[in-house]
Amino acid sequence: MTTRDDRDVGDQSAPQVGVAPYLAGQQLAEFMSYVAGQPDADRATASGVERAAKVIGAQLACIVRAGARPHCVGLPVERVDEFSALVGDEQNGRVELPGIGSLVVAHEPLDDTRAARLVVARPGSRGFSAEERDLLRGMAGVIGLAREMLTRRRLLERISEIQGRIVRRAAIDEIVELIVSGAAELTGSDIAFLRQAEGGADGPFKLQGCIGLSQETLEVIANSPGRPNGASRQVQRENKLIVIPDYQNRENSHPVMKAQGVTTLLAAPVQSGAEPTGALVVASRTAGRVYTESEVAALRTFAEQASTAMSDAALVADTVHRSLHDGLTGLPNRTLLNERLSAALARCEDTDGQLVVLFVDLDRFKTINDSLGHKVGDELLIAAAERLSACVGPNATPARLGGDEFAVLVERADERQGQRVAGRIIDEFERPFSIAGHELMLSASIGVAAGRHRDDDPLHDGDLAMYSAKTAGGGRSSVFRASMRADARYRLELETALRGATDRGELFLEYQPIVDLTADRIVVLEALLRWNHPQRGPLSPNAFLPLAERTRQIATLGTWVLRTVCHQAMAWHQRPGLNHPRVAVNVSAAHLHASDLVAEVVSALQDSGLPPSALVIELTETAVMTDVGYAAERLAELRRLGVAIAIDDFGTGYSSLQYLQRLPLDHLKIPRPFIAELRGPDPDLRMIRAIVALGHSWGVDVVAEGIESADQVDALLGVGCKLGQGFFLCRPQSAGALDAQLAAGRGWLGPGRFTSTNDRAA
Ligand code: C2E
Ligand code: MG
Ligand code: MG
Repeated sequence: MTTRDDRDVGDQSAPQVGVAPYLAGQQLAEFMSYVAGQPDADRATASGVERAAKVIGAQLACIVRAGARPHCVGLPVERVDEFSALVGDEQNGRVELPGIGSLVVAHEPLDDTRAARLVVARPGSRGFSAEERDLLRGMAGVIGLAREMLTRRRLLERISEIQGRIVRRAAIDEIVELIVSGAAELTGSDIAFLRQAEGGADGPFKLQGCIGLSQETLEVIANSPGRPNGASRQVQRENKLIVIPDYQNRENSHPVMKAQGVTTLLAAPVQSGAEPTGALVVASRTAGRVYTESEVAALRTFAEQASTAMSDAALVADTVHRSLHDGLTGLPNRTLLNERLSAALARCEDTDGQLVVLFVDLDRFKTINDSLGHKVGDELLIAAAERLSACVGPNATPARLGGDEFAVLVERADERQGQRVAGRIIDEFERPFSIAGHELMLSASIGVAAGRHRDDDPLHDGDLAMYSAKTAGGGRSSVFRASMRADARYRLELETALRGATDRGELFLEYQPIVDLTADRIVVLEALLRWNHPQRGPLSPNAFLPLAERTRQIATLGTWVLRTVCHQAMAWHQRPGLNHPRVAVNVSAAHLHASDLVAEVVSALQDSGLPPSALVIELTETAVMTDVGYAAERLAELRRLGVAIAIDDFGTGYSSLQYLQRLPLDHLKIPRPFIAELRGPDPDLRMIRAIVALGHSWGVDVVAEGIESADQVDALLGVGCKLGQGFFLCRPQSAGALDAQLAAGRGWLGPGRFTSTNDRAA
């Protein structure tokens, strides 16, 4: 027997027979397996239409869906709309189609939404029988079901592919492309793209993975930051899906999209983490296009996938960012700096260019950190990093290497330009930092080193140059020289040897008198540390104390000095017949801040039995200025014990007198360079006169250091400076050598030491 589907669709002479119910059932089953066996919804629809026409014996068949691409047989696609309009709602109606003739039509919806229908038509006057109409209804339902099933399957396939890529951490662009093409396919759209805000939710939109737009349109959209009332912004703002059915006539439509002929637009929100960051957009050019519920649901699903991918990518980016940046200051870390440095050095070698690295170390930061605690230290580092970044320019990479060490990579620059940048940093650090109620002075030591070749190590060279800037007093920059490498080796050797020096008895003290110039009397003996290096002989404190400061041995050495001096002074005190001057101990900034100096002093005094009034603590101006508040408290405690306080090297630390004035002081010591200026018949005394006047107004004694001639003594007495110290008066010497002079008491300087002042002193 011949089934209807064997018949030619165009075979208009075929007899129209009714379809027996059992036959209809069998035909429907075959129809179903045929249609559902198609690879996708589109092909299922197309082949469903074709097969339906055959089975029902229609010359013309089509699926008409509002605004969607039609499928038809027996009629050119462009005429489907015209045909559909003629069909109207009537069943078994008659249609006069120009060029084809009079047709009788029947139609059935694909599903309950009745959004689409399967229309069949054949020439002649006889209408479709009830059985044929049943069969038609069945086939329309099968096509609807198959479409839905295949769409779901396709959606699932797409989603699992996307999921796979997300899990495998494929490149985000690749994933976005899949999402966008999937959204276009499963919503049956002509246009699809993703817009994502960059650099925070308010940032400009970036266009990602676009389908269906011309290159020019693409460029216009890619370069527009996202209009405040544009569809994507609206979706992002409201975090909900929107449908714009009449895009051409909507007020806020994008002119370029309008020009592209968009009729209907659908946009779903995309999030990164919990934050709405953009929109997945699909659009159609078909007039009157209506998106079905399942298409809207599909877009939502793709937008969710995009959210997962974006959140994931953001997480990965965040992890990568963290691994390459310093958590405290947000600056690039050592790893990232090294990476950029290697790349930049390679470029230098290839282009014959050069770069420069600044190695920046904060002076006395450890002291502040130890005395004020890590919270203040952290805030100070953040503030320092901000100042540093502000003065290096956009082409430089500032980085935090760790602790209080920073570096700046400046490309296409030489040492001279590097020094200029360093100068700007040093200037920036001149203003005090106000942190947690503390006014903190923080200077920077900067090493500048150039690099030209892949093998160069400007970061290490910069470190060596920084060291030289630091030992020269800090707050300055220094350019790398090859000789610094040998210096570094020497320092390392000294540092190592210094560790055991106290135990091996290599350290010892000399004492230098501070003399009352008017009374020819020793008033204080300043203890000065020496190291008898087994190979290098006696070393001055300037040769090894900076190393001790750097390696934190300074507190150990300081404690040893304090205890030794107290015991020595007590020995002098106990000797009958001896003049009993006070003893002065130099205390470094690191020692003042790193340990409980006051407790140490108390213990040294108690253990030795020395009365507190016999002890003077000398601190340099810069040691005090590092943190005036802290220093003032410690000094006040010492003062309460009865210990006297001297400010060493007064006038070299650029400190504000306002701050110094707050300190409880007993002596100001004028450093040697100022005294050395007192030469010739008409010396410039203005500076010294000013310091002496200041001392008197504060009620503090002024001591002139480094007196090397009788003229200087004269000049000093002339301006009212009564205390002095220097090689002319007495060189530093061992305790034993001083015994005799102490016993002599008054007049120990002997005749000839003074010229005219001898008379005054008498
Ligand atoms: P300072 O406290 O200012 O000590 C004075 C320095 O000037 C001493 O150098 C002394 O030998 C030197 N001096 C004194 N009179 C003259 C002179 O007429 N001409 C010349 N050219 N020099 C003179 P020294 O002993 O090398 O000490 C250098 C610095 O090392 C000291 O400067 C002090 O800041 C530090 N220092 C010395 N001993 C200690 C110590 O035990 N602990 C700490 N923390 N620092 C110390
Ligand atoms: Mg001193
Ligand atoms: Mg001094």
